[in-house]
Amino acid sequence: MNECPRQQINLTQCSCTYEPCERKGLCCECLRYHRDRSELPACYFTPEVERTYDRSIARFLKSSR
Ligand code: SF4
Repeated sequence: MNECPRQQINLTQCSCTYEPCERKGLCCECLRYHRDRSELPACYFTPEVERTYDRSIARFLKSSR
């Protein structure tokens, strides 16, 4: 994976608690990964929902009502 000059700055705003992920702080990679699975990145979810690791659009819509 290429180095991102924004990675450290992005990490200060990253709400993802899935520690083993190699995409943390690489927002373009994160978005592409989840978009390809019809999902959204962790930062779209409340902390409670984020911790379930359910990144589906359906879960997002359910939690944003
Ligand atoms: S939201 Fe997904 S791709 Fe992004 S850092 Fe967390 S686990 Fe990785």
